[in-house]
Amino acid sequence: MIQNKLLMIPGPVEMTPQVYAALDAPIVSHVAPEFIEIFGQALERLRVVFRVTKGQVFILAGSGTLAMDSAAANLVESGDRVAVISTGYFGDRMAEIYARYNAVVEIISENPGTIPSLEKVEAILKKGCKLLSVTQVDTSTGVLANVRELAKLGKEYGTLVVVDGVCSIAGEELPMDEWGVDLAFTASQKALAAPPGLALLAVGSRAIETFKKRKSKVFNYYADWSNWLPVMEAYEARRSAYFGTPAVQLVTALNASLGEILSEGMENRLKRHIKLACACRAAMEALRLGQIPTHPDQRAHTMSAPRYPAGINGNEFLQRVAQMGVQLAGGLHPVIRTEYFRIGHMGKIGIGEILTTVAAIETALSSCLPSFTPGVGVEAALKAYSS
Ligand SMILES: *Cc1c(COP(=O)(O)O)cnc(C)c1O
Repeated sequence: MIQNKLLMIPGPVEMTPQVYAALDAPIVSHVAPEFIEIFGQALERLRVVFRVTKGQVFILAGSGTLAMDSAAANLVESGDRVAVISTGYFGDRMAEIYARYNAVVEIISENPGTIPSLEKVEAILKKGCKLLSVTQVDTSTGVLANVRELAKLGKEYGTLVVVDGVCSIAGEELPMDEWGVDLAFTASQKALAAPPGLALLAVGSRAIETFKKRKSKVFNYYADWSNWLPVMEAYEARRSAYFGTPAVQLVTALNASLGEILSEGMENRLKRHIKLACACRAAMEALRLGQIPTHPDQRAHTMSAPRYPAGINGNEFLQRVAQMGVQLAGGLHPVIRTEYFRIGHMGKIGIGEILTTVAAIETALSSCLPSFTPGVGVEAALKAYSS
């Protein structure tokens, strides 16, 4: 039997027994009444997670990148000006996708670990943009963007505001209606703690209008909302419809996870993520590990990106952590890849998983650095958690 490691990477993440059980349900037809109910319920529950009432929520078979592609393909027409705030790898990917649909893309970025100022963003918006795009938590840097202020700024300049929430939704605050976000998306395997394989989008009414007013066809056939809008509207109204076969098992597992998320309550869930992030951060500080996000207010609550201490071989360190039964992720940002590692702390986890992770990190550090004495990290995490 394979001994599973505790999965503490920024997606996929650990799942609850209820979600595993849902995956194990017998396969049913995608138009069976019981599946129509599950799909409809999942769509309704997603509205609560995204905090969006109007517009339409989509569940598509595909990874988070399909959600990115779908947003760009349906909102952008050739020659549209798009401003992309990039705080890392996924911001850059988003910019590339808009450009693929012939948008004129302006990337607004700073050094890795920092966010461009509101003034810098405003200077670009002043030139007139159809769309402002931002990654709430860029998984390559752990930087948390100030979506609330950015959305406000976007509104002032009449641009659509699109948020990549793949590493944040259900782990960070993002009330779409309240903040005026026009489109946000995520994927099943991150803070929603479901299996990988589903792209989830919440498209507000302004974004739907923009789509309906398009002058040109959507270049992407699979992602075209003309195909999917009637399907999502039908399932939400508890009718069947077909364009492409939904991922029946994955939707069933997602719905189980959403049920658990809503019974915990979004507010409790966000508080739990903050508390666990603080515990993890306190441990990293006690271990004197720097963080990639330079400003403490700009650090994600769904993941951390600590720097390796001097004199450590990153691969060897991560291997030793894995030998202790904890799976962490290496660096992802191309410019700083070898300087840091990543810990995912989103989804169902609690303080037990954080302490296990910190203990594994300390054990690995002490085998890589003979002068290091383990213990301070766990102590600091516990102290932060109980304060
Ligand atoms: C994981 C991630 C993606 C891409 O999702 P995939 O499921 O890997 O395609 C996009 N954006 C962010 C912020 C992510 O964390």
